[in-house]
Amino acid sequence: MDTVYLNGKFVSRDNAWISPDDRGFLFGDSVYEVVRWYGGFFFDMKGHMARLRRSLSETRIIWNEIESFPEVAHELITRNSLDDGCSLVYLQVTRGSAPRTHAFPEPQVPPTVYASARRQSLDTLVWERGISIEPVTDPRWNRCDIKSTALLPNILAYQEAHDHGFAEVCFIRDGFVTEGAHSNIFFVRNETLYTHPATNRILSGITRNNIISLAADNGVALVEEAVSADMISYMHEAFLTNTSGEVVPVIKIGDLVIGDGAPGEITKKMQRLFREKVEAWGEELLARG
Ligand code: PMP
Repeated sequence: MDTVYLNGKFVSRDNAWISPDDRGFLFGDSVYEVVRWYGGFFFDMKGHMARLRRSLSETRIIWNEIESFPEVAHELITRNSLDDGCSLVYLQVTRGSAPRTHAFPEPQVPPTVYASARRQSLDTLVWERGISIEPVTDPRWNRCDIKSTALLPNILAYQEAHDHGFAEVCFIRDGFVTEGAHSNIFFVRNETLYTHPATNRILSGITRNNIISLAADNGVALVEEAVSADMISYMHEAFLTNTSGEVVPVIKIGDLVIGDGAPGEITKKMQRLFREKVEAWGEELLARG
């Protein structure tokens, strides 16, 4: 049985219980983070911590021990013997448990904090082959910038795409591509990268942000501008980014084949630059001890 973290304690999953009055359970009144362990280090923990701080402050959920998270995450890796290889650590912070009413609990109650780790290797096959994604009208609220666990619209859209044989969703809002159900989307046209700006309509992905800085550092032109759905057929390449998959080529959107139906050159370049960044990150952290 694996060891999880719940409210300050490391316990076996069998012994991790939360109240049925928990607001995360009742309302989805909670936020989360997912960080990747690369057999020795977490990638961009600083970026994940900054996003977590923002999600908490935007939702007014108070977790005073937030600074303990990197240590908790590391401890989960160690206690579950996941030091070697790739794993994901999941963290969820809810507004705590209290009798059900919309108003925040008064007096304030402690948040429920849960974290767990599981092995998850990188899928290098999809890096080589690419995936097909399904265009779907974006049904979500106006605060997609908050990493909320209230993911019902993402889940319904993803399941529908999955049932149709697609590997991810391509959300379209007001005629423009926003992002995927759990990834950001980039397009390439004439060697320039396009991605939706970090507004309330997308989650500002940590992988996305690293791709943006890698493009800047390596002379790859990039514009934070939404691509209209009408323009998809004119795009030469497309790819998704997220913590679990890194950079995943998109070769088809609905019926439209992107480029020549194989991962494009700029996509492969960004994949390689991201891989090199992860490796350099690890070497630097390990050298520092
Ligand atoms: N958008 C959404 C809606 C997501 O759920 C995710 C993954 N959490 C992302 C983008 C990608 O974010 P990241 O690169 O930080 O994993």
